[in-house]
Amino acid sequence: MRLNRRWGWMWVPKIGHVLFRWTRDLPVGKHADKENRVTGARLVKEAAGWHVVFRVQSQAPEPAPHTGPTVGIDRGVTRPLALSDGTFRDHGPWLTHGEGERLRRLEKTKERRRRARRPGEKNSRRLTRTYDQIARLRATAKRRAVDWQHKITTEIAETFSRIGMEDLAITNMVRSARGTRETPGRNVRQKAGLNRAIAAEAWGRTVTMLECKSADRGGSVVKVPAPNTSRCCSACGLTTPGNRETQARFVCKNPGCGFEGNADTNAGRNIDRAAGQAVSGRGDFGVTRSTKRRPPTRPHAV
Ligand SMILES: [Zn+2]
Repeated sequence: MRLNRRWGWMWVPKIGHVLFRWTRDLPVGKHADKENRVTGARLVKEAAGWHVVFRVQSQAPEPAPHTGPTVGIDRGVTRPLALSDGTFRDHGPWLTHGEGERLRRLEKTKERRRRARRPGEKNSRRLTRTYDQIARLRATAKRRAVDWQHKITTEIAETFSRIGMEDLAITNMVRSARGTRETPGRNVRQKAGLNRAIAAEAWGRTVTMLECKSADRGGSVVKVPAPNTSRCCSACGLTTPGNRETQARFVCKNPGCGFEGNADTNAGRNIDRAAGQAVSGRGDFGVTRSTKRRPPTRPHAV
């Protein structure tokens, strides 16, 4: 039940009435009917606190086909998202300088306390508290990242009709190989596989969000395995190992072409073209097309 714009309360068995922050539109009260209603809820504990997730059933009309331009999106080397139209979507660090410092201090404390622990001994209460503090900071960072992704993917799904993206599984394999051959040190010098895992998870989340949001607006996401996107010239189509001048800059070695531009934008343009070929059935890319229709029932996080 809604109390006001920001707060609602609900009855939880064995606990009683629970107040919660109202963050999404939900079909309750006069907004509910047979087809649009809340069908269930569950409580979720995260490091930052408790959330309640409502299951909502809604009947959405089939959206009209999206009429916007097409786009290809590359996971940039130097920028998070590079679009084929030459624009980028950037974000700052997820934690402020102070929060980052605090996290580093906590990690040190954690190590010290872990070393001080005798084998077989239970975690001290102080160590447990340090773990919790670290988990809370990490959760804050993730929440900010997801928030940014939601804003960006909504904007992209509203603007573009067909969104070409690299297929994650294949991309990962290619990237790790490329890291040693073409841009040595890029993945090698990363602290651990952790950063890469986080980046891969974030990319997967971006793809999933775009698939849902694009389908809701009559558009589609086309996933293309694109092994040559960074080495192929988007102007003449020539793929040469020497094509890429630096990580950031693409210079075509074809004397009759001479195309030059941002390397990530070039890759985005290749992805857009590959997606177009995939949809029209031409081209040599093996492609999975994903046009998720809105399912009749899906959870809404609140
Ligand atoms: Zn060229």
